[in-house]
Amino acid sequence: VIEIGTPERSVITTCAYCGVGCSFKAEMRGDELVRMVPYKHGKANRGHSCVKGRFAYGYAAHKDRILSPMIRDSINDPWKEVSWAEAMEFASNRMKGIIAKHGRHSVGVITSSRCTNEEAYLVQKLTRAVFRNNNTDTCARVCHSPTGYGLGQTFGTSAGTQDFDSVEETDVVILIGANPTDGHPVFASRLKKRLRKGAKLIVVDPRRIDLVDSAHIKAAHHLQLTPGTNVAVVTALAHVIVTEGLFDEEFVRTRCDWDEFQDYAEFVSDPRHSPEATQFLTGVKADELRAAARLYAKGGNGAIYYGLGVTEHSQGSTTVIGIANLAMLTGNIGRPGVGVNPLRGQNNVQGSCDMGSFPHELPGYRHVKNDSVREVFESLWGVQIDNEPGLRIPNMLDAAVEGTFKGLYCQGEDILQSDPDTKHVAAGLAAMDCVIVHDLFLNETANYAHVFFPGSSFLEKDGTFTNAERRINRVRKVMAPRQGYADWEVTQMFAQAMGANWAYTHPSQIMDEIAMLTPSFAGVSYEKLEEMGSVQWPCNEKAPEGTPLMHIDGFVRGKGKLIRTEYVATDEKTGSRFPLLLTTGRILSQYNVGAQTRRTDNVVWHDEDVLEIHPHDAEVRGVRDGQFVKLASRSGETSLRAKITDRVSPGVVYTTFHHPTTQANVITTDFSDWATNCPEYKVTAVQVSPSNGP
Ligand code: SF4
Repeated sequence: VIEIGTPERSVITTCAYCGVGCSFKAEMRGDELVRMVPYKHGKANRGHSCVKGRFAYGYAAHKDRILSPMIRDSINDPWKEVSWAEAMEFASNRMKGIIAKHGRHSVGVITSSRCTNEEAYLVQKLTRAVFRNNNTDTCARVCHSPTGYGLGQTFGTSAGTQDFDSVEETDVVILIGANPTDGHPVFASRLKKRLRKGAKLIVVDPRRIDLVDSAHIKAAHHLQLTPGTNVAVVTALAHVIVTEGLFDEEFVRTRCDWDEFQDYAEFVSDPRHSPEATQFLTGVKADELRAAARLYAKGGNGAIYYGLGVTEHSQGSTTVIGIANLAMLTGNIGRPGVGVNPLRGQNNVQGSCDMGSFPHELPGYRHVKNDSVREVFESLWGVQIDNEPGLRIPNMLDAAVEGTFKGLYCQGEDILQSDPDTKHVAAGLAAMDCVIVHDLFLNETANYAHVFFPGSSFLEKDGTFTNAERRINRVRKVMAPRQGYADWEVTQMFAQAMGANWAYTHPSQIMDEIAMLTPSFAGVSYEKLEEMGSVQWPCNEKAPEGTPLMHIDGFVRGKGKLIRTEYVATDEKTGSRFPLLLTTGRILSQYNVGAQTRRTDNVVWHDEDVLEIHPHDAEVRGVRDGQFVKLASRSGETSLRAKITDRVSPGVVYTTFHHPTTQANVITTDFSDWATNCPEYKVTAVQVSPSNGP
């Protein structure tokens, strides 16, 4: 029995975990948060929530929180607690010194999809207007950057097409590379409700996820593909739709570029893309693939939902393009029940991308090469903006190792734990003269930092998050920042110390500036959010109440563009030393690297990462259920317990990455998406052998 005191007041705010963006009433007694109650008027969750949003907030008051700024001359020195003023002076002097010695392109920033829109906006403004370069990136680089590229190329904008309500009108769902039961639980509930009412489900996943055969739901098809063959599967589906004449010719003629379609149709019709020709490559039987294609094309409203199992591949962008192709081919765009819907992992992946956190894009997905767009920002900010894209995260680390990149401000992101090839990340960080970490906890990256700015939790600040359906939700301050300042104030203090004359007094002013500079946000204001509860962008003169469904009459780019999707095998190969393929995912009760959930005092969070292995593969290796095994790849090795299960196919193993002891990124490769550098976390050749434990 948990004793809960009587709440004295409550504040409506937004969950800071996944991209569903559930609204909660935070109930307070004095300065103590006593309960998070799902908010029944929240448009994304309608009174529902999952275990994380409801119970995993204890980290905000955890003893590991760092509450004082800290500095040190060298990473070998002990930390020294200092005042905010001293920390700002130290950090700005170091950064100014680097810029004076190595030039303005030798420094950059990384922001996080955990931060609010206003914080992300300020961080990219710091880079462009104060550092005077475009070296700004976000952790979306390592998750949904291929979504940005793929949907931008095909539809003209980098966002999901539907609202969550849309799932209630769908007849056929293709779920590809996503496990919403664990990753997006509240959306999963809505999906399950629809499936129980008769909608059909096609799961494309190397692992037999819960939705394939749970108690009341059985997928019509499970295309249990070999990890790394998404493009071949998606292209084979398109082959069936085109060669069997199942495509929506009227939609394609009126809404898409017909010349591009003809080129695409010629490409996918080639017999080498047929299910029969690709089945040995993909591991999916030809008749299963044909039946799935027919169901999606002719089963009524068809919707595609996808996750990181699509994006975190060397061909992540190609698969996103292939998914968009399928929707356009079948006319499944522009009405309720259809569409292409990336399930965003973190709470504000959508928002951090919208806010111009990428080195090639200003807020609103507009390229830095675009003179007229730059001019708008330049005239308001009073500076000239570089017209060449800056460095992505991996490029920053490469440049650091080469000695040309010297200073990094890293806000809300633990790149040493979450980015691939841990040794290379460490080498890059160690080579820099100034690493500023801005976070709640002394994370792994902070081992290489010279300055630590203590961060504020979502309970301690005002702002907005944008969820996976483009819904801008208010985050409201529930309690005062424990370390004195909200994160946006810290970024502003640092910009001021660097010489900027910023003078925001509330995040609403930052949103007003975003609205002034970003056409898709032109109608967004805190007043509107108070009035409507939330609003989905684009929100502007044309759509003052926002846009639940996109591309109704035309695509943002004009005509939709169908693009060839040539399958290219990953460079990561199995062989005699590393004969198995490792793929990764997450569990319901944990969140990413577990920095928050592991610091919540509840037995629900006392789990561990395990390695799922097929009974056949376990037997030939002498591995027993529950026994520790060594998991080794060409990059490194780690140790964890084995779980013998036929949820994975022979030849495939699977684990989660929530605990630092697992060190999953010591194992993963440094291969990445060809278009965006999103790491290929989902395919690693490994060997498994019994061990005595870590
Ligand atoms: Fe939070 Fe996502 Fe759970 Fe909703 S589904 S409560 S947003 S973690």
